[in-house]
Amino acid sequence: MNQPAIDIQGLERRFGTVTAVDGLDLRVEPGQVYGLLGRNGAGKTTTLNTMLGFLAPSAGSVRLLGLDPLQDDLALKRRLGYVPEDLAAYPWMRVGEITRFSAAFHDRWDHGRVEGLIDRFELPRERKVRQLSKGMRAQLLLALALGHHPELLLLDEAGAGLDPLVRQQWQEVLIEVAQDDGTTIFTCSHLVDEVERIADRIGVLVGGRLVVDEELDGFKARCRQVRLWYDGQDSPTLPPAHATKRDGRSWLLDVRDFGPDWEAACRATEPDRMEIVERSLQDLVVDHLASPSSLEVRS
Ligand code: ATP
Repeated sequence: MNQPAIDIQGLERRFGTVTAVDGLDLRVEPGQVYGLLGRNGAGKTTTLNTMLGFLAPSAGSVRLLGLDPLQDDLALKRRLGYVPEDLAAYPWMRVGEITRFSAAFHDRWDHGRVEGLIDRFELPRERKVRQLSKGMRAQLLLALALGHHPELLLLDEAGAGLDPLVRQQWQEVLIEVAQDDGTTIFTCSHLVDEVERIADRIGVLVGGRLVVDEELDGFKARCRQVRLWYDGQDSPTLPPAHATKRDGRSWLLDVRDFGPDWEAACRATEPDRMEIVERSLQDLVVDHLASPSSLEVRS
């Protein structure tokens, strides 16, 4: 098997009495687009900061592209792209200047790619960083992060303030980079619909632990709602679901391992009517945040 692009084992990070990340195991394969979701305070940024070497783990190990972010800092920087939430540095520099400045840090800088992205995003080259809107700064950050063709791109709540048109353009760039360059992408985001559009695999972090770590399509296929109507029965024997509630004249089952066996088990209860409801990722994530199962890691 290939060396994973991200290999996190038993990661713990404590701040005094607060355990921000609590025994995290996470593996991302080369070329994969991974979306890490979680509530405020779930430990996403702490995880990312240990991946970037900004924080040392309290326990466990982190390897990116086979390298230790603390010990192999420089070697990793050459192969890594990072898009933070906002660009605070170099407010006095003009867009045109900051691209030349960034190029100096990399020996294989692709001017054509960066200039192409600046044109595509229609960023004003003469304007200073501090005069750019938040969305423009996000676009500039993405263009700069891609200048050296990183093998791995990390995004932390990046592009959160983009308008819908720019967001679409941004997502197209990420998908192109993953498809054409084979870049592995790891994004922490609250934007479930964005993650749904670009990710192959998702993680849901609750209290510093992953409660879901799974291929997106598989996750959506196995998490269904089943609604059953029994005209003549008042208390039918229902298959054991993650949650069951009565809703007027029907029963609504929250199923987290749906498949042909489950469907057969429902039919065996002889309902008068049965409806299988596909759910949006947004609904599924909200459900898993409100009521996590025990760890659901599936390949
Ligand atoms: P958000 O989505 O709001 O950015 P997050 O998932 O990124 O949240 P973290 O920023 O990783 O969450 O924080 C996880 C937990 O660790 C929180 O309880 C936070 O208060 C705590 N924490 C993070 N950094 C520190 C710090 N430097 N000192 C003390 N506690 C911290």
